[in-house]
Amino acid sequence: MTSLLELAETQHYPAATLYVVATPIGNTADITLRALHVLGLVDRIAAEDTRNTGQLLARYGISKPLVAVHEHNEREAALRVIEHLRAGERVACVSDAGTPGISDPGAKLVDAVRAAGFQVVPLPGASALATALSAAGDWVATFTFLGFLPSRTKQRAAALQALGAHAHAMVFYEAPHRIVDTVQALADAFGPTRRLLIARELTKLHESLWCGTLAEGPAWLAADANRQRGEFVLTVEGASAQSPGDADHDALLRMLLEEVPVKGAAKIAAALTGASRNALYARALELKNEGGDEDAEEDAN
Ligand code: SAM
Repeated sequence: MTSLLELAETQHYPAATLYVVATPIGNTADITLRALHVLGLVDRIAAEDTRNTGQLLARYGISKPLVAVHEHNEREAALRVIEHLRAGERVACVSDAGTPGISDPGAKLVDAVRAAGFQVVPLPGASALATALSAAGDWVATFTFLGFLPSRTKQRAAALQALGAHAHAMVFYEAPHRIVDTVQALADAFGPTRRLLIARELTKLHESLWCGTLAEGPAWLAADANRQRGEFVLTVEGASAQSPGDADHDALLRMLLEEVPVKGAAKIAAALTGASRNALYARALELKNEGGDEDAEEDAN
């Protein structure tokens, strides 16, 4: 019988190639057989943090020369990696956790390596994004990944305001010291009724997944200080999802639009529902345009 690791070895892994290898996001067992095979096969590993990666490799009994490729040196380090590829080496790229290039170094290295004419081969594996979405449900059937929001209050609010009418579910990464402020900012921007999934410490000992509304999010976090610890993926329902709250908003906005301009309709609807005025304004504009009203733009001014 073929062993599992032998299966991973059956593929041909050409020389002078960059292998982008996903590593676990918490649970060390979440490494693939192909990842282990390729990390054992390559001549060199480009790592976000050589100490972290050294420890990870040691757990699997792998020892390789490491090149540091992090946020602050990615372009220069890419030139060194390209020299190794020119010498015919196989080079792997890993980040500290999860899939390189997803809110992690790796993307600029990939650009540079491809521009230099070398092949890039991805090895799929753990990512906090896919892990959270896999347990979210049907309301995230279409989604947009937005990574980390700006850390400054004003810039964050502006970024969220621009997303008020975004139709797809939105996925954000967040750190523990900003989680409370960010969940509150999401509720302020998108109103109380949309669904929110807080996926915390995925694959780790204290993993938790909580799904409620944006209005309930801040209270859920406040109820237990432990809920504010660790790493987070936040997923928020999009504007056009058919949640009861949004359907109610549409009905209300339609009625108001028969009587008042878009701006006034959004203002009144916000006062009545507690939902975000900007989100309601964007939705009212859409509804008015659906009705083919050419005055909609004028109303905005
Ligand atoms: N490249 C990684 C990936 O594929 O998911 C993401 C790296 S990014 C620097 C780190 C962020 O990812 C964390 O702040 C958190 O938002 C999210 N994250 C990483 N591991 C996580 C986990 N185990 N549980 C929840 N979120 C996690």
